[in-house]
Amino acid sequence: MGAVRRSQNSDNSKDSQNPDYDVIIVGGGPAGLSAALVLGRCLRKVLICDEGQPRNSRAEALKGFLSRDYTPPHELLRTAREQLKRYDSVEFFAGKVINVQSSQNRFEAVISGHSPVTSRRLLLATGLIDEVPAIKGFDELYGKSVFLCPYCDAWDVAGKQLAIYGKGERAMEMARALTAWSKNLILFTDGDSELSDENKHQLKRNSIELHEENIEQLVGEKGILKAVVLKNGRRIEREALFFDTPSYQRSDLAIKLGCEFKNERAVNTNKYEYEATNIPGLYAAGNNTGDILFAVIAAAEGARAAFGINKSLTQEDLL
Ligand SMILES: Cc1cc2nc3c(=O)[nH]c(=O)nc-3n(C[C@H](O)[C@H](O)[C@H](O)COP(=O)(O)OP(=O)(O)OC[C@H]3O[C@@H](n4cnc5c(N)ncnc54)[C@H](O)[C@@H]3O)c2cc1C
Repeated sequence: MGAVRRSQNSDNSKDSQNPDYDVIIVGGGPAGLSAALVLGRCLRKVLICDEGQPRNSRAEALKGFLSRDYTPPHELLRTAREQLKRYDSVEFFAGKVINVQSSQNRFEAVISGHSPVTSRRLLLATGLIDEVPAIKGFDELYGKSVFLCPYCDAWDVAGKQLAIYGKGERAMEMARALTAWSKNLILFTDGDSELSDENKHQLKRNSIELHEENIEQLVGEKGILKAVVLKNGRRIEREALFFDTPSYQRSDLAIKLGCEFKNERAVNTNKYEYEATNIPGLYAAGNNTGDILFAVIAAAEGARAAFGINKSLTQEDLL
């Protein structure tokens, strides 16, 4: 990014330690880049660090993002970084934030390949990482005809012969969701389904076949799923597969910093204003806090965090 200039508000800061930045943003996906844009427009001095592993890196296109439907994911990020160059107070660094220490609204970040830096606020926009089933043939098809988000990809395979992969309540939820796009659904649980009798009856009532046998492999051609092959040798034709397995914080920084979580996956920002966490001065936005994991919502949460951060900095400066 362009040469960094001290923001108006930092010059007026009453902070004796004079931190290097108003805000450090960890993560340069839709959430982090959106926050950087709003903060740049607030003349805030921002360092955004990104290790370059966005959650949707396996996807061929980003779908359902207003005015960017079917844009390649890397293209959205490249354009956003390009447009940030207009804002001299925003600096982009391609590298991993390894550790952060916080004390009374002040942060010190250790970044790989960069000297340690300090800031008045810190935003975690670090995203999630998905657990991917270890099934032969899965990797070659992932992102082309094997998907995890029906809202992102089911429109493209609507009405087709769809497979669902998962267990228990998560698999039921995926099956329920997919009935909006296809009536031709088969659930593969690859071992014990962990479903209640009531769930099994619900599948039956809705003509959703259940296979609890172990899976041998997925067979496809040029990225398109053709069949699910079971260990007992049975081959069941399918045209696309949706899986629902757990996802986790991509970064351990939220845990290290002592953030409250609202469930196993998401940092709790619900109790506080504008994406703030329970740690003073620390904000979190995007998939690492979310329940609806769309990119457009991550971007909106980043903008919301930026609003909250700028507001709190202004309040601090006027104290
Ligand atoms: C296969 C797939 C397809 C998808 N398709 C769609 C779709 O079509 N439409 C849609 O709306 N959503 C889609 N999604 C969801 C979409 O990927 C997310 O909503 C979006 O990426 C969330 O943005 P984010 O900024 O929260 O996180 P991310 O985009 O994951 O960005 C987080 C960034 O932070 C970086 N980071 C993490 N820790 C550190 C650290 N310590 N230091 C520096 N950098 C760090 C990561 O490397 C990453 O670059 C898809 C997801 C998957 C898995």
